[in-house]
Amino acid sequence: MTKKNQEYIDNIECMYTCNTCHSHLLSQKDIISRAFQGRDGPAYFVDQVLNIIMGAKEERMLMTGMHTVVDIFCMICQTKLGWKYLYAFEHNQKYKENKCIVERSKIAKEIMW
Ligand SMILES: [Zn+2]
Repeated sequence: MTKKNQEYIDNIECMYTCNTCHSHLLSQKDIISRAFQGRDGPAYFVDQVLNIIMGAKEERMLMTGMHTVVDIFCMICQTKLGWKYLYAFEHNQKYKENKCIVERSKIAKEIMW
């Protein structure tokens, strides 16, 4: 794993940060859906997440079929945030590829004025 520099989100009104260490993770415009279910509760389906590291690739049977996923962790504090879909076996789940699920309980909303 290569160590990346921490990235920052700016020029947006609303973003979400890691609940533990407050590093910047995603901006509101990256949220595709708020109606997803994580492992521990409600989750967001998002286009991209910054400042993460990825775990080992695995095939996981989810409610919507078989997917190849990796768990994603905060780069700074290593809290597990959710997972990323790398590959969907079901044709109607292809839209999830390269998108992430982020557990709502792991992130905090920050409003910048
Ligand atoms: Zn963190």
